Amino acid sequence: MDTKNGNRHALVTGGSRGIGMAIVEALLKDDCDVWYLSRSQGETLEKLTPLAKSLQRQLSWIACDMGNRESVEEALDAVIQQAGTVEILVNNAGITKDGLLMRMKDEAWDDVLSVNLTASFLTCRKIGRLMASKRQGTIINTSSVVGIMGNGGQTNYAASKAGLIGFSKSLAKELSGRGIRVNVVAPGFIETAMTEALPDSLKDTIKTQIPLGRIGSAQEVAEVVVFLASDKASYITGQVLSVDGGMAM
Ligand code: NAP
Repeated sequence: MDTKNGNRHALVTGGSRGIGMAIVEALLKDDCDVWYLSRSQGETLEKLTPLAKSLQRQLSWIACDMGNRESVEEALDAVIQQAGTVEILVNNAGITKDGLLMRMKDEAWDDVLSVNLTASFLTCRKIGRLMASKRQGTIINTSSVVGIMGNGGQTNYAASKAGLIGFSKSLAKELSGRGIRVNVVAPGFIETAMTEALPDSLKDTIKTQIPLGRIGSAQEVAEVVVFLASDKASYITGQVLSVDGGMAM
């Protein structure tokens, strides 16, 4: 069986760096044309355009603030207009605004829920409709080990990531009749801009809580996303796949 996705159109949110950029690269290598949404272009377009060209694949960036409904709707319309259709949707954009609940400002709650959860509702609604009409497509939403286990100082982030899990399982049930699979990837502690700001002492403490004893790479998450998007995962829907070195066992 040809396990590559083959000539599919993929939309990745938050593709300008980190895990999202690794997902863009892995999907290009898996024969997808890729559109990514983020506020800044990041290095992705410049770094990966030569790869896309060598693979005869299309790589495009569309500016979008996932925390702004109008911006999301406009960007999705632009992707649909350019791509014609979308067979793979990866909701990856995410932010943290950490703090103890007793001191948390409304803005920190609203912003995190808006980018991490509401934006996925908007993308899944619009792209899900498209997929449902074509009876083809797959969606991967990015949660976190924190959405499974909780973490002090991250009530807003945990709520958004746990919310994504319930959202995705419900959507998987709604769309299964159309042959559309919806799954969740739940990274643990991954080396990206989101985690690099943490002090080394905290990183060392976190490492002791990871059974595999090391921090993960963005590529290790991207490989799992490509797997879930591929026909290799054709009988998997409504699942949460942890990529966390065993943290959430
Ligand atoms: P990152 O390096 O900080 O990258 C975040 C991405 O999201 C960037 O492309 C960023 O692009 C985009 N983004 C943030 N706010 C946005 C907004 N308002 N509108 C549009 N795009 C926005 O983060 P990462 O570590 O790769 O994380 C990727 C995903 O994995 C997130 O959902 C995160 O919660 C999840 N995750 C990460 C870890 C980890 O250890 N790193 C662990 C568990 C889960 P712009 O800034 O250019 O807009």
